[in-house]
Amino acid sequence: MNDKFTLKCSGCGREFSPSPELYLCPECSKLNTTTTPPKGVLKAIYDFDVLKSSAEKVISNNFWDLMPIISPDSLPMLKVGNTPLYRFTDIDGKRLPFQLYLKDDSQNPTFSFKDRASSVVSAYAKENGISTIVAASTGNAGSSLAGICAAQGQKAIIMVPKSAPVAKLTQIVMYGATIVPVDGNYDMAFDLSIEATKAFGWYNRNTAFNPLTIEGKKTVSFELFNQLSREIPDYIFVPVGDGVIISGVYKGFEDLLNVGLISKMPTIVAVQTEGSSNLINNLKRDDFLVTPSSTIADSISVDIPRNFCMAKEFINLYHGETLSVTDNEIIEASMILSRNTGIFSEPAAATAYAGMLKYYQRQQFNKNQKVVVLLTGSGLKDLNAVSKAITIPNAIEPNIEALRKMNI
Ligand SMILES: *Cc1c(COP(=O)(O)O)cnc(C)c1O
Repeated sequence: MNDKFTLKCSGCGREFSPSPELYLCPECSKLNTTTTPPKGVLKAIYDFDVLKSSAEKVISNNFWDLMPIISPDSLPMLKVGNTPLYRFTDIDGKRLPFQLYLKDDSQNPTFSFKDRASSVVSAYAKENGISTIVAASTGNAGSSLAGICAAQGQKAIIMVPKSAPVAKLTQIVMYGATIVPVDGNYDMAFDLSIEATKAFGWYNRNTAFNPLTIEGKKTVSFELFNQLSREIPDYIFVPVGDGVIISGVYKGFEDLLNVGLISKMPTIVAVQTEGSSNLINNLKRDDFLVTPSSTIADSISVDIPRNFCMAKEFINLYHGETLSVTDNEIIEASMILSRNTGIFSEPAAATAYAGMLKYYQRQQFNKNQKVVVLLTGSGLKDLNAVSKAITIPNAIEPNIEALRKMNI
C-alpha cells in the first residue's frame, strides 16, 4: 500500500488517495470537452511538514521521500536522469557575461527527457501488478515508454500521428511495442488512447492525464539543485508543448520550497515556436483560442496543451516569463549549439536554446547570473529537420590532388 502521497486537484483542491484507476479529478473532469484544455489534472502532495523537520535527510535519501514509488527496485535498471549539466563560457568566440549551463537530457536511455516520466509510470505500474501500458505521443513519449517497458518486461501500446519522425517510429518498433499509427494529429491520437483506456482497461501514461508524469519530470529540478551546489538558477529556459515538463520543473522546485530546502523560485521562461504557441498565447485570455499548430519542432507541436491549467497557475504564481521563436531561429540555434558545444539537439530542444539566445539579445542577463537551458532530446531523432540547412559535399577522388582542390 502506497501512502507516501495523495493527489490533489489543481482546480478545486479536493484530495484523493492514489490508485492506478485515478487520472483526472472525477468532479472537474466532468466539464472537459475535446476543444478546450482538460481540467482536473492532479498534483502529488507529500507529507511536507514532516519532511521539513528532517530536510537534510531528504537530500541524503536522494529525494526519494518526494517520489511516488515505494521501492527504487521498481525502477528500470537503465540509467534514467542524472544527466550532465555543462557550463559553457563562450558562444562563437565571444565570452558570455553570465553563467550558461546546459542540461543534456538527450543522455537518457531513449535519448529524450520523456524517460523521466516513463520510468516513474512504469515503476508505479509494476508496484500495482500492471503489465500493459498505453500512451499517445508525438513520438518521444511513445519511444520512451516503449524502451522503458522493454527494460521492465512490460507491454507498451503506442498511438502516434503517422507523420512522426521516422527515427521515433523506428525506436517504438525496435523496442517491441505495439505501434498504432493514427491518420490524424497528436490531439486525435491522445483522445483515442483515452477512449481505449476506458474500453480495454489499459493503464495510461499520457502526459498530464497520468499525474505521475509530472512527478517523473520534476526530478530534473532536484538534480539542478544538487549540481549547482544547492544554489537556485536565476533562469531556466524550457521548451513547451503540452506544458508538463515546465510544470514538472516548477513542481520539483516547489517541493524543495515546501520542505524548506530553498527559499525562492527560479524565473522559468516558457519557450514555444511561433507556429505552435497555444499555451503562451492563451495565458492572458479568459476563453481558449486554438490556432492549429505547424512547426518543424514536432515534439512541441500541440493544439490543445494538456497541462495548460496547471502550467498557467505555476507561471502566474511564480512570475514565469514567455517567449516564442520562429522555425528559422530554431534551425539557426540548433547549428550554433552544435558547433559550439558538441551537443546536437532535436528542434524542440533547440527551441529552448533559441529562446535563451533571443532573450539575451533583447535584454542582458546580469553579470554572473546562472542561466540553465533544458536540452530535452537528441538531434539524431529528427535528421530531416536540419537536412535543408546543411550541405554534405560530393565525394572526391581519394587522392591528394582532389583534396587540395577542396581548399580546406
Ligand atoms: C515532450 C517534449 C517537450 C515538451 O514537453 P511538454 O511537456 O509537452 O511541454 C520538449 N522537448 C522534447 C524533446 C519533448 O519530447
